[in-house]
Amino acid sequence: MPQAQIIDGKVYAERVRASVAQEVSTLRRDHDIQPGLAVIVVGDDAASQVYVRSKGEQSLAVGMHSVTHRLPADAHIDELLLLIAGLNEDPRIHGILLQLPLPGHLDQRAALAAISPDKDVDGLHVVNAGRLANGEPALIPCTPLGCMIMLRETLGDLTGKHAVVVGRSVLVGRPVAQLLLQADCTVTIGHSRTLDLPAVCRQADILVAAVGRPQMIRGDWIKPGAAVIDVGINRVPFDNPEKAAAGRTKLVGDVAFKEAREVAGWITPVPGGVGLMTVACLLQNTLTAARRQNGLG
Ligand code: NDP
Repeated sequence: MPQAQIIDGKVYAERVRASVAQEVSTLRRDHDIQPGLAVIVVGDDAASQVYVRSKGEQSLAVGMHSVTHRLPADAHIDELLLLIAGLNEDPRIHGILLQLPLPGHLDQRAALAAISPDKDVDGLHVVNAGRLANGEPALIPCTPLGCMIMLRETLGDLTGKHAVVVGRSVLVGRPVAQLLLQADCTVTIGHSRTLDLPAVCRQADILVAAVGRPQMIRGDWIKPGAAVIDVGINRVPFDNPEKAAAGRTKLVGDVAFKEAREVAGWITPVPGGVGLMTVACLLQNTLTAARRQNGLG
């Protein structure tokens, strides 16, 4: 059997960004509306700073208004809530993204709940989760949205396919499962208490792995020809003992890529797969929010 085809996140993310840039330009020209994204970051976590910079740069690159608000690591929750309240009222801002995780003393749930659901471009507000579950128009979490774009572009109609999602987090597993259900898949959700997870995964025409365990899903868990979407991003030491001894690390997914590629029909690599779609879908959501807030559907 030939090796699985790679679902290249770079190609799809570029396509999403190009389409968003085109629509932003039309909105600005025809309606004098410039979609605006505000990113809030609390503290100085190095990884968060990299993500936030990338979000700011990419939103500017597609023609959006973009602002980043930085609060100190010891910021009080009231300071954060006041900032969010101001952005909720700011007509230049259509999307608000709170970079997670927050420092431990801040109540993440309270902060997310304070964001206007209409500006919640991360799709994490309980109102958006409810709308998604009810099949109503919602702002959909960026990573799940990216997974669905890649699946639809790769497979076309998903009707009747058996999708297995491993992971049931609010951020990834649950919304992916809801979206697959909306696409008329038969959906199974696996998690840490699932019995005989390999056998469950082997039934999947579509396998979405969102576990956070490096290379947990092995090649013999995969049905021949399945589409495998690997959401996991795990940092591990290099296999090469010299590099590992020097403290060097690399990124791997939740799927054992080399083994899986021998069995699957399609597979996303890590890095270079789902991760690249996440920021592209943030731009898509900011555009959607701007359109809806201006009555443009
Ligand atoms: P969470 O830790 O919130 O959820 C992990 C899920 O995996 C839980 O539902 C848990 O089950 C399940 N799980 C854990 N261990 C096992 C196991 N041994 N067998 C079966 N299920 C298990 O993680 P997230 O959903 O936030 O993230 C998942 C992965 O995706 C991470 O690697 C993260 O870095 C990555 N990620 C990537 C993004 C991207 O842009 N590509 C964006 C967001 C996340 P239970 O509920 O029973 O505990």
